[in-house]
Amino acid sequence: MDSSPQRSGETCSTGVQELFRKAGVMLDGHFLLTSGLHSPVYWEKFKLLQFPGYTGTLCSLIAAHFRQKHASVVVGPTMGGVILAFETARLLGTRAMFAEKDGDGRALRRGFSITSGEKVLVVDDVLTTGKSVTETLEAVRSLGGDVVGVGVLVDRSQSCLDFGTELFSCLRAPTVAYAPDQCPLCAAGVPLTKPGGA
Ligand SMILES: [Zn+2]
Repeated sequence: MDSSPQRSGETCSTGVQELFRKAGVMLDGHFLLTSGLHSPVYWEKFKLLQFPGYTGTLCSLIAAHFRQKHASVVVGPTMGGVILAFETARLLGTRAMFAEKDGDGRALRRGFSITSGEKVLVVDDVLTTGKSVTETLEAVRSLGGDVVGVGVLVDRSQSCLDFGTELFSCLRAPTVAYAPDQCPLCAAGVPLTKPGGA
């Protein structure tokens, strides 16, 4: 396998960005991210996922990108990944599953199964640290699944993440984040918020 990270997408990023803006996804403030860093912007993905039309438009980009990989299952991490896996699978005509929190990682429960060598597409909403995608990949690969790619709505990662498979994002928008002791919003005394579900 090629060890260098592959990254693609952003083919129509202006249109995609407009769609996020219309859904009101980007919130301004002073937010505590799961990484422990502070950010002036938080992407509330469910502002978009509440619209099946917008969600379907983005999933169609992911589905079109990976259609030739002939996955037979699409898997996403809870919660947003449930919706994305379902819609992407609907477009591709495959099964849809989700990976739930299980101890330090994730697992496929609910009677979901993947046969050894079965081709799997992994999807997620907002990619930041890559933790939920990595945990989902581990769950799929531990069952012998052959991951053909990772598709996300937004790639907000600050470094080039390597999942050992191709990464496609509908939009690339790196996170602006500060260590708490270097945060200008903390210095200005702006109250810190922990976003819902973060
Ligand atoms: Zn701060």
